[in-house]
Amino acid sequence: MTPRTIVVVDTMGGLGDLVLSLPVLEGLARSHPAARLTVVTTAPWHELLLRDPRIAEVVPVPGKDEATIVGVATGVLERIRPDLAITTNRQFGLPVLLQRTARRAVTDLWRRPPADELVDLRYLRLLVADGVVAARFADLPPRLVLGPDELDEAAELLGRLAAGPPVLLFPDSGMPVKRWPVPSWRALVGELRRRGATPVVVAEDAALRDVLVEAGAVPSPSLPLRALAALCAAAAPRHGAAVGGDTGPVRVATAAGLPAVGLYGATLALRYGLREGLGTNVQGWAACPERRPTAITEQACWWTGTCPFTRDGTPRCMAEIRPEQVLAALRP
Ligand code: SF4
Repeated sequence: MTPRTIVVVDTMGGLGDLVLSLPVLEGLARSHPAARLTVVTTAPWHELLLRDPRIAEVVPVPGKDEATIVGVATGVLERIRPDLAITTNRQFGLPVLLQRTARRAVTDLWRRPPADELVDLRYLRLLVADGVVAARFADLPPRLVLGPDELDEAAELLGRLAAGPPVLLFPDSGMPVKRWPVPSWRALVGELRRRGATPVVVAEDAALRDVLVEAGAVPSPSLPLRALAALCAAAAPRHGAAVGGDTGPVRVATAAGLPAVGLYGATLALRYGLREGLGTNVQGWAACPERRPTAITEQACWWTGTCPFTRDGTPRCMAEIRPEQVLAALRP
């Protein structure tokens, strides 16, 4: 059966989670160009999809709690009664909801995950195996659609911020185990300056931003999400790059076309890293015995933010990533 209506429920909650779903959305849209594609996803990240002509409707979910997610998803699925429904989230009874309301439902994109297959590729390949995405789209990269007006505005802003090739630095992370130590960031800023690049720090944490500015980085103004994506896109043709941990903004950068160096500690780059060709992954302390590639939430450090292998609890894996490794991973 060729679906005429498709609903994707992507409510894992993180910005990075939405970027991981972009290849799925594109794979579905290209496999079924006549179908009407609706995406239910977490606000405010849904804004990334708003100008994508492949998506007929984007429905924001204004919360991450069960009642909000199930309430919004139920409303959409009961209104559309789609031919095909897919969820990346298996919580809150969503699989049963999809099975009840759609003619066909794909509800487990987390089945038997191999430790060495990237999450977004896994999604796509399972959908190919299930026959809902064409095999020729099994390797699609994440890709954002930005408007020419957004790109022009970003190029103008970047022209004011950066004289040399811009290197966008994303030092923030909501999770302590994903943070690279501040002295490492400072050393990277200094070396980028010496090489004639312009390090541009993009951080919500004002104290962190100020430390890197003191070291020689240029502060980016606080930007709405789409403007940030456009800034990344504008940096690409200027021989730019991005650097940051396993976080949403770094994924956004690669989806906007900016090559990135991803710093991976508690998460295994083979599973959560950036796609080959879009970025370079640097893994800290690859031999950590506590790391669980297919069950990261069970790691001792994940929710506590405390590493059992250092005296002060800061992540040993992140501390072992040296600025020289990052510089080597950046393109000349
Ligand atoms: S236990 Fe420590 S070194 Fe190992 S992954 Fe967690 S933070 Fe990194």
